[in-house]
Amino acid sequence: MTNTDTLALLGVKGGPAIRPGSHMPISMLLRMAGKTIVVDAGLGVTRGICDQGVALTDIDLIVITHLHSDHYLELGPLFHTAWTAGLNRTIPVIGPKGLDSYWAGFQASMAFDINLRMADEGRCDFNGLADIHVITDQHDLDGITLTTMRNLHPPITDTYALRFDGPESSVVLSGDTAYMPEMAPFAQNADLLVHEAMLRDGVEALCARMTNGDDRLRTHILRSHTDAADVGQIAKDAGVKQLALNHFVPDGDPDFTDAHWDAAVRQHWDGPLFLGKDGMAINLIPTTP
Ligand SMILES: [Zn+2]
Ligand SMILES: [Zn+2]
Repeated sequence: MTNTDTLALLGVKGGPAIRPGSHMPISMLLRMAGKTIVVDAGLGVTRGICDQGVALTDIDLIVITHLHSDHYLELGPLFHTAWTAGLNRTIPVIGPKGLDSYWAGFQASMAFDINLRMADEGRCDFNGLADIHVITDQHDLDGITLTTMRNLHPPITDTYALRFDGPESSVVLSGDTAYMPEMAPFAQNADLLVHEAMLRDGVEALCARMTNGDDRLRTHILRSHTDAADVGQIAKDAGVKQLALNHFVPDGDPDFTDAHWDAAVRQHWDGPLFLGKDGMAINLIPTTP
């Protein structure tokens, strides 16, 4: 029987801003061993899930890698929309400490509407829809093992790479991180590595265009993300079967095309390569023709 485990990139843009021509910020949809897992909830996650043909009421688990807004700005709206679409059971959420404050704050900000819909439409209790757990080294997900590794994304310290090992496939998600040698052993032999990537020349161009940031933005980007060329080296060292790029910095700059990303990664990696696009679904075990 053909394996149907897939990882869909719902949004591939690094950073929270969107502009005409850009992709959406970060979220992913993992379907593994019959489970439906959302990883990160940047802007566009709700639409992205539906565009994969998955009902919001079918989500089994949500994992948030770190508390930068491009990874969780839409978490509350995702729950609210799932609620109005019929969600009436609890979804576990695994994320860094502090996520419970966001959840409380989101509900406070929407209290009028939430209370109204419970009273006026008979909707179930909203607060109970999310069961928030602080991320640990390992989580047993009933047939899937989630292993986490603190990655390198200063100034944030509660920030994680994720590895999901199912009965038939494995996938590693780098999260937001500077180059770290530990990523290769962490991703060893995975069926798919999804790694964030940046092009240094593109960062300079991006920062030159900024109208409301200063040199600290440039410093932040360069010290907390990974050069595309290094991503190729990590994939090679890890011996992964497939590599996908996401969290592109820059994104939507016509001066930096797929050819630039491809050339950077190909310095070290000659295996299967996916340059992520919003909505791109990748089979964890490629189907043989
Ligand atoms: Zn990010
Ligand atoms: Zn980040």
